[in-house]
Amino acid sequence: MHIFDEIARKSHEQVVFCHDEVSGLRAVIAIHDTTLGPALGGTRMYPYASDEDAIVDVLRLSRGMTYKSAAAGLNLGGGKAVIIGNPKKLKSEQLFRAYGRFVQGLAGRYITAEDVGTTVRDMEWVRHETDFVTGISRALGGSGDPSPMTALGVFEGMRATLAFQTGSESLVGKRVSVQGVGAVGRHLVDYLIAAGATVSVCDIDEDNLRLVTAKHPHVEVIAPEAVYDADVDIYAPCAMGATLNPDTIPRLKAGVVAGSANNQLASEDRDGQALAARGVLYAPDYVINAGGLINVANELEGYNDERAAQQVAAIHDIIRDIYTIAREEEQLPHEAANTLALRRIAGIGRIKNHWCGVPTIKRGRGAV
Ligand code: NAD
Repeated sequence: MHIFDEIARKSHEQVVFCHDEVSGLRAVIAIHDTTLGPALGGTRMYPYASDEDAIVDVLRLSRGMTYKSAAAGLNLGGGKAVIIGNPKKLKSEQLFRAYGRFVQGLAGRYITAEDVGTTVRDMEWVRHETDFVTGISRALGGSGDPSPMTALGVFEGMRATLAFQTGSESLVGKRVSVQGVGAVGRHLVDYLIAAGATVSVCDIDEDNLRLVTAKHPHVEVIAPEAVYDADVDIYAPCAMGATLNPDTIPRLKAGVVAGSANNQLASEDRDGQALAARGVLYAPDYVINAGGLINVANELEGYNDERAAQQVAAIHDIIRDIYTIAREEEQLPHEAANTLALRRIAGIGRIKNHWCGVPTIKRGRGAV
């Protein structure tokens, strides 16, 4: 692998390799773009098969964070980190504190958070060594579990999508299928029921299903595979990625796809086009599921849940703006989301050229 070619290909700014022999720490921190602000993104811990796999993943994920923060209207850039190793075996206080010292050494250019394979407890270890960590528990003044805010953002984005598709954002009487009632899906069901929707759910975890049906006995439970054939107005994927693919798209009866799962399109171009061809309006995943990121970003200014909820609800208007770009510029929704993000980075980047600092006198040779 030619590392500098890889870094240059997607215009990353900085990649840092971190090593601590005693704890076994091997981590890579990638800072993609800091035009809008410090690079924020979680730390993933995973037993990568090779160093190359870890580098490819961290470069891909950090770039995604640049787009996500930009589209969400945050003053944050994109970054991500990976710790190479099995989370079940390698975790220790020493490892995360060693990692925290490397994060601190970046002096705020990178701000970390939890991600796949890391937990709030791990980040609390990291916090012993750095100021630049978010996703801390409420008890320590942090934002806590992001899932309710992610669900709120999905709900608002769903309403905006419905409005663009049908002319009304009312969910009264609309049939919605929620695939996966875990941390996000179960909160989304609460919002949907309160808004008057008729909800069906599926999950492979019986305990999670029971949590929902105990609270909402009228919710219909369907088999996991039946979700693609369900006679609904809206399909909300809130489980795993790649559920929009050549097998499932022809089966969908919904006119709207709006859910929290990451990487919903198995192939962005092929499946984005297939949905559009069937008249299905797809809410770009990384925008509609940004509620958790907005929530965590709120910690940087001192966490306030009212302010966080207001910012998350703004996903409604961001999604609407994306569809407007898509319609006016003949783009698919996921392309229009990228357009919106890139325009914001370019626009804000340009105004940062305006000098507004305290004047400093540059003395030439011989000046007193
Ligand atoms: P979770 O693990 O708590 O819930 C996922 C649920 O999906 C589980 O109940 C699981 O049993 C179920 N599931 C798995 N495979 C399934 C299948 N084949 N059919 C039906 N159900 C299935 O995860 P979560 O935190 O609720 O996140 C859901 C999705 O949203 C994930 O893709 C996640 O990456 C994404 N996301 C979550 C957040 C957040 O704040 N939690 C933020 C952004 C994106």
